[in-house]
Amino acid sequence: MSSKPATHDIKFTKLFINGEFVDSISGNTFETINPATEEVLATVAEGRKEDIDLAVKAAREAFDNGPWPRLSGEARRKIMLKFADLMEENADELANLEVIDGGKLFGSMRYFEIPLSWETIRYFSGAADKIRGATLKMSSNIQAYTLREPIGVVGHIIPWNGPTFMFSAKVAPALAAGCTMVIKPAEQTPLVSLFLAHLSKLAGVPDGVINVVNGFGPTAGAAVSTHMDIDAVTFMGSTEVGRTVMQAAATSNLKPVSLELGGKSPFIVFDDADVDKAVELAVVGNLANKGEMCIAGSRVFVQEGIHDVFVKKLEATVKGWAIGDPFDLATRHGPQNNKEQYRKVLSCIQNGKKEGATLVTGGGPFGKKGFYIEPTIFTNVTDDMSIAKEEIFGPVISVLKFKTVKEVIKRANATKYGLASGVMTKNIDIANTVSRSIRAGAVWINCYLTLDKDAPHGGYKMSGFGRELGWEGLEHYLQVKTVATPIYDSPWL
Ligand code: NAD
Repeated sequence: MSSKPATHDIKFTKLFINGEFVDSISGNTFETINPATEEVLATVAEGRKEDIDLAVKAAREAFDNGPWPRLSGEARRKIMLKFADLMEENADELANLEVIDGGKLFGSMRYFEIPLSWETIRYFSGAADKIRGATLKMSSNIQAYTLREPIGVVGHIIPWNGPTFMFSAKVAPALAAGCTMVIKPAEQTPLVSLFLAHLSKLAGVPDGVINVVNGFGPTAGAAVSTHMDIDAVTFMGSTEVGRTVMQAAATSNLKPVSLELGGKSPFIVFDDADVDKAVELAVVGNLANKGEMCIAGSRVFVQEGIHDVFVKKLEATVKGWAIGDPFDLATRHGPQNNKEQYRKVLSCIQNGKKEGATLVTGGGPFGKKGFYIEPTIFTNVTDDMSIAKEEIFGPVISVLKFKTVKEVIKRANATKYGLASGVMTKNIDIANTVSRSIRAGAVWINCYLTLDKDAPHGGYKMSGFGRELGWEGLEHYLQVKTVATPIYDSPWL
């Protein structure tokens, strides 16, 4: 069964600044590639510092003098709801762009990730008219209250593994708060954000509120993180670049940053777990989105009593994982997003082989065309191996054996990362002990990848800080002002 065919009708390839699609000042462009075919899809305007400057100027004007921050929450909510409606109406086209530009599966885009994206816009639209401060009981004869105000112009730097959802998770709370923004999408997936910017304009988001500047990290990205007129930055990407962004913010105007970075999350299966469910979740938790997930449960710890049967079932499931055309609804596994990532994953697999892990299945490229890699399982993985330590960001499952609860908690925490974790057990005491002991931003008990618009998402340790989604997802876009005034002539004085 095949979904609708790729139209390859790419409407928007320029920069989106102040409500208009414009060429870059230099006239430079770059190519974006379809990872399933390795064909050039489109030539896209390449923004650099001077284009970021223009976009920031538009966002600054829209914040300082434009209507958006001054609209009632109700008015902002209505526009955001219209934006979400337009995303829903254009779901096929959005899904199509995700497939051709990023190698995502049409089915999971059309029926899961893109609906989650428009629901995220709707969720935060509901916050737009509920942002409020507190009344303070001061110890002296002062009356005071707090205002929660939009932080100003925000720079969003986003990665390539979920362009529509990451755009929505960042733009929705910023819009609700009354901020204006400049978005720097990943150079590997420049098309989706431009289409979303077009929809935002149709929805009535005023010019200058959302600006999209495609370009490369060291030029366009760095121009965002160093900009003196951007008030806050949100960054999603690698830990290494996250550090650079934080340094740039510190040495420019001390803008606050939120960092959503890499992970090497433990997925822990105890002897009493439902083995079939555990296998299913280990597979989805590592192979969904061809493993290009910061929250992948890429260290699968399996207790010794269940280990062998788990591995057998895991092997059978992974061998049945259909690889192929991402438009085919029967396909479970598409191409890696880009050539660099494809090479990186293959080199991590090589390292696993060299370090002595047992290759159960997969382990190499798949097919003659496109950046496809076979879903891969390693067993007999030990904590010191690179495949157990480094984020692979590809379709590789590493299985590690353990004996006791105490031991697995220690080993699960022995990582620089702390983004997510999974615990499979029917024993409530084990579940409680492990969930309170794991140092990570999420613990999923008898489930995995349960991302939701209402659940705050973010890291501990070197997986970053700050939270996206949930009520906490608004925090980065607001600041608190205390307003105080003396109370004179009060009968209580
Ligand atoms: P990356 O860090 O290379 O790039 C991310 C973004 O940063 C891109 O837009 C890129 O152009 C930009 N960038 C690169 N250099 C820059 C610089 N010097 N200054 C400013 N911006 C710069 O990461 P990637 O390869 O695109 O994405 C993969 C990584 O992202 C993985 O480590 C993954 O775990 C992480 N990620 C994390 C989350 C999360 O929520 N924690 C979500 C998705 C991806």
